[in-house]
Amino acid sequence: MKFLLANVEVVKGLLPRVVESLLNEGYGLRVVVEGMAEAKKFSCKECGAPFDAYPPDDAHTTALLEKEEGAVERKYSCTYGHENVLYWIKVKPRLVTA
Ligand SMILES: [Zn+2]
Repeated sequence: MKFLLANVEVVKGLLPRVVESLLNEGYGLRVVVEGMAEAKKFSCKECGAPFDAYPPDDAHTTALLEKEEGAVERKYSCTYGHENVLYWIKVKPRLVTA
């Protein structure tokens, strides 16, 4: 019982990093899984060929074509080898209450 109470306090203190903090909690794992966006389809800016792009992590799940403060830059190649740069930004974490 003491252990459980202590755990709750630690989690509250680390709220901004709630996903990492709750990795050992059942519902925390669900938050992480939901945040792992699937590959998104994009079209090459050179030739229009489709290519898949995966988010760099579970926090930066929205892709922009123009650089933005705090964005994670990732380069992708289309089928024909053209380089495409995407800038991934954070979206507000969805906190799931069990
Ligand atoms: Zn291309």
